[in-house]
Amino acid sequence: MTEYGLFNELDRTEGCFEAGMYTREEADARRLEYIAEGEDPEDIVVAELCPEHEGQAKNGCEGCDTEHPEPTLEDYSTAARHIENLMPGRWRRS
Ligand SMILES: [Zn+2]
Repeated sequence: MTEYGLFNELDRTEGCFEAGMYTREEADARRLEYIAEGEDPEDIVVAELCPEHEGQAKNGCEGCDTEHPEPTLEDYSTAARHIENLMPGRWRRS
């Protein structure tokens, strides 16, 4: 089942501030309630939630992004060791 959440467009790092809506209509209606309470319509966006990571939009989910992380220093040294094994001595600094 697709879950929808409300996000603060200006600061997506805050993540989802309201979830638990399971139709687009329900989420849109909730958004309109916030707007009626004085929230800026441009600040609030409805987004599909990632099915695997709570409080994350499906598009641009930080949890899913970490499955393809930026290489770390450790990754580089692992790669360097791998190259070292393939071509001994070639990459060694004297
Ligand atoms: Zn995710």
